[in-house]
Amino acid sequence: MFSIKDKVSTEERYILENVAAAAADMHVPAFAIGGYVRDLLLGRPCKDIDIVCEGSGIELAKKTAGLLSANIHVSYFKNFGTAMFHYNGIDVEFVGARKESYRRESRKPIVEDGTIEDDQNRRDFTINALAIALSGEDFGNIVDPFNGLADLENGIIRTPLTPTETFDDDPLRMMRAIRFATQLNFKIEHTTYKAIEPLKERIKIVSQERIIDEINKIVMTEKPSLGFKHLFNTGLLQVIFPEMARLQGVAQVENYGHKDNFYHTLKVLDNVVDRGGDLWLRWAAILHDIAKPNTQRFEEGHGWTFHGHDAVGARMVPKIFTALKLPLNEKMKFVQKLVALHLRPISLTKENITDSAIRRLIVEADEDLEALLLLCEADITSKNPEKVRKYTKNLQLVKQKIEEVEERDRLRNWQPPISGELIMQTFGLTPCKEVGIIKNFIREGILDGDIRNEYHEAYEFMIQKGLEIGLTVVPQNA
Ligand code: ATP
Ligand code: MG
Repeated sequence: MFSIKDKVSTEERYILENVAAAAADMHVPAFAIGGYVRDLLLGRPCKDIDIVCEGSGIELAKKTAGLLSANIHVSYFKNFGTAMFHYNGIDVEFVGARKESYRRESRKPIVEDGTIEDDQNRRDFTINALAIALSGEDFGNIVDPFNGLADLENGIIRTPLTPTETFDDDPLRMMRAIRFATQLNFKIEHTTYKAIEPLKERIKIVSQERIIDEINKIVMTEKPSLGFKHLFNTGLLQVIFPEMARLQGVAQVENYGHKDNFYHTLKVLDNVVDRGGDLWLRWAAILHDIAKPNTQRFEEGHGWTFHGHDAVGARMVPKIFTALKLPLNEKMKFVQKLVALHLRPISLTKENITDSAIRRLIVEADEDLEALLLLCEADITSKNPEKVRKYTKNLQLVKQKIEEVEERDRLRNWQPPISGELIMQTFGLTPCKEVGIIKNFIREGILDGDIRNEYHEAYEFMIQKGLEIGLTVVPQNA
């Protein structure tokens, strides 16, 4: 029989042996189960250990903690029959084996005490139903009623009971199937996969918090495009994130097509991942072309255009973040800014790259300039190697220009060299719109390269512009 004896760390083994001793004392069978067992067998880092026993989980937790050390704090929820403690950096959770039945309108089951078999039956996938026996002779043996080991070896996601029943009971499992397939690079078994489409609308009974949690887990994998293709092909994406699903498709008029923006977006997303992008840069990739369907026009004799999709897309970001329950904070602002600016570096390369255009980009992108350039690089996805070469070279040129201008003008974290206070003092003003006008003249003067980014030139410029708009310089007290 398969055993995990050689796979657990000494630390984990020590915990498991003490669970076994406590369970023997109570005369109840106990098991390690679920994600812990799966990850152990896959050699993925262990986060926490889940223990199930055919009896009181709370009592087993207390007894185990007592055997491990005198001063472990056990927290428990009497209503749920669950208990947990931390020991040497490992979270250990305990629960009595459960049997579940479901009502249609909720994914929260009615729970009764059950056997280990009942408990394994209610798990979502065969690879998540594996258990390790922790009793006497059997200690360390795998309990595998659904051939989860074979599925683990062959890389297959499959439900233990019929997929329709499993997904209907708790529709979140449809998303978990896709998430695990993406995280582990597993295949979803055919009938399991087929069962999702007809039940896709059932996802609506799941809370948005749980849905976004699964989406973000997909976004954070090495190849998120896999997950999004599954979400699209099963129809789930159309229900949970219709704006993204709408990117799919190619309109055709008089032999003019355009690229499929869904698959393009996925390529950009994978590219961002390959370049080390974090969660929010990944979201910027997902949303960079989100307004293309809304702005798509066919221009006679010219082809498809998407004018303004950057600005319209940026305006969509807060709505999408709200609907998906992503945070409405500076992360949202970051994504919005990148969507708004994502065409700028590339469009610069089409004209002459003027210093003034570069300065404006530096000031607008500010601390997010590197992230923006990374997104732009990831956005080059043409199948035509000649085009890729050309765009990449142009972007390189823009980067070089940015470095030159930055070094010369020190524009990052730009603060105007002349304050509003000084303007008011110089012209004897109280706060009024003229102060803003002068400030703007100075800013524009610097960005256009009429004056340098330094105090003296800006001061002279302020006097000149002030006089031009009819202000007078008041004598300053020494
Ligand atoms: P991860 O921790 O990476 O999210 P996991 O499989 O460990 O993955 P948890 O949410 O920690 O997921 O759940 C632990 C175990 O509980 C799972 O392995 C599975 O056996 C069971 N489980 C969790 N959620 C469900 C669910 N919605 N339906 C059925 N079983 C579930
Ligand atoms: Mg887990």
